Amino acid sequence: MAKKGRVFSGIRPTGRAHLGNYLGAFKNYVALQDDYECVYCIVDLHALTTVEDTLNLKQNTYDLALDMLAAGIRPEETILFVQSHVPQVTELHTILSMVSPLGKLTDLPTFKDMVRQHPNNVNYGLVGYPVLMTADIVLYKSDLVPVGIDQAPHLEFARETVRSFNYRYNTKALIEPQMKSAEVPKVLGIDGKEKMGKSLNNHIELALTPEETRQRVMMMVTDPQRMKRTDPGNPDVCNVFTMHKTFTPKEDVEMINVECRRAGIGCVDCKKRFAENLNKALEPFRARRAELAAKPDRVHAILEDGARRARAIAEVTMREVRAAVQLP
Ligand code: SF4
Repeated sequence: MAKKGRVFSGIRPTGRAHLGNYLGAFKNYVALQDDYECVYCIVDLHALTTVEDTLNLKQNTYDLALDMLAAGIRPEETILFVQSHVPQVTELHTILSMVSPLGKLTDLPTFKDMVRQHPNNVNYGLVGYPVLMTADIVLYKSDLVPVGIDQAPHLEFARETVRSFNYRYNTKALIEPQMKSAEVPKVLGIDGKEKMGKSLNNHIELALTPEETRQRVMMMVTDPQRMKRTDPGNPDVCNVFTMHKTFTPKEDVEMINVECRRAGIGCVDCKKRFAENLNKALEPFRARRAELAAKPDRVHAILEDGARRARAIAEVTMREVRAAVQLP
């Protein structure tokens, strides 16, 4: 079946993936493969902007690739590769930086957030992050980029940069990417308060064993007002209930919704049920992951093949870009 266009998405290698990555990104990545030609990039150069992400960078990159493949990325059709394996991206980044107004870059909310989070490491890479991101997108002649609301300003920046470049150099070398609105669910961590993430240690890694997964689930914070088993609960404010909606059969979700409100089910039992359903849902992932983990050469070969295919597209773009800016 003919595909509807080319989708690009980049993901930072922050180590073994967790449930938040699965629900917030992988699920959508896997589904997009049915209709689009997909280019998924593990953005290791972007990880260099923050010191903590560079620890174990190689291992983190490998682990993320393994998790993405286990989650259902199909490397025969999708291009899965590592950003730094395609050096053309840094060349394009430099060229695009000449049409990227500094004021606009320092005005982006994500830059301001990063400055707040890393006050002792405000480096050029942080300012230029959206330029490198633009280079990532346009290098592969991408039509669509799935973005959540927080990334929308970056995509808008990319679109403006493409227009500026094409106008300044009187060329059509770069394609203006369109936004593919993606519903990125905010997955809360086991603390029930903050977004799930490694840095807060409130995550549930996909690669945990069933028993380890159960233990993490049993640590999940529930309705904070429900102090005793006999207190009625409120599923609307409970993260366990939110997760049930994704992993538990509909009729059981309805039962929990009713029973929780009249203290017919306790939080311990409710979490046990969730752990069971989550473990069941993760069975195919774990089986694929174990199979791939036993053959690390296969994972490396997939990434090499992805980089080879990505470089072929990148070189076509760069020939046009170099010609436009009159570089050899
Ligand atoms: S019974 Fe379930 S839904 Fe209700 S508060 Fe406890 S964990 Fe949450």
